[in-house]
Amino acid sequence: MIALRDVTKEYPGGVRALGGVSLDVAAGELVAIVGPSGSGKSTMLHVLGTLDRPTSGTVHIDGHDVGRLPDAKLSALRASTIGFVFQQFHLASGTRALDNVADGLLYRGLRLGARRDRAAAALDRVGLGHRLDHEPHELSGGERQRVAIATGLAGEPALLLADEPTGALDSVSGDGVMALLRELNGAGTTVVVITHDREIAAGLPRRVRMRDGLVRSDSATDPATDPAADPASGRAGVGR
Ligand code: ADP
Ligand code: MG
Repeated sequence: MIALRDVTKEYPGGVRALGGVSLDVAAGELVAIVGPSGSGKSTMLHVLGTLDRPTSGTVHIDGHDVGRLPDAKLSALRASTIGFVFQQFHLASGTRALDNVADGLLYRGLRLGARRDRAAAALDRVGLGHRLDHEPHELSGGERQRVAIATGLAGEPALLLADEPTGALDSVSGDGVMALLRELNGAGTTVVVITHDREIAAGLPRRVRMRDGLVRSDSATDPATDPAADPASGRAGVGR
């Protein structure tokens, strides 16, 4: 699903956010990206989500060499394949949950009725079928994040990318969001999730640890260097 090769990213001003990252993620995986603030996690997620092009190196998503795709094809690939969930919820205030999600499908070229049908189905899937008409200020933080997740999955992406989806939530809401990501993964969606939370990371099947713009350990390829390595903690995860 994802193949990064020697990916670097330099921002204007000479900041080298990625220093040569290679990473493979197979279809159906659930991967945690961990590492200190500033280590390049979000930059990598943007690059592998095709929101940003690398300075050098190659990115393959679902078999496509992203660097060779013209912008229009890249947008089409992104729209059909990738869903995003960001920590900042990006919900429009004064707009009910149903339309927040439906508006995220505008680029799909669907009619309003079809967008709303899909939005309602996505909200139902995240357990908010009874909150369709609630505006963001009428929802809890956890519910707002679930609306954001519904937006990410309404397009039925094969790949869901989440940047600190539990970062702004209390632990109960965070557990709910993680349970939802696991459930989506169980249904076949490939999920890559950035998290600061050690317990969450320890409970996921694979951890990729970044530092200073590089992958420093990957539990899939080198379990011995995985600081959270614990043979007893598998997909069932650790409790809080
Ligand atoms: P993380 O998500 O791990 O906290 P980021 O990928 O956001 O790290 O940032 C990696 C480095 O790149 C940091 O030094 C950050 O300041 C820098 N950086 C991130 N985005 C930009 C940008 N748009 N312009 C310039 N520098 C950036
Ligand atoms: Mg970040």
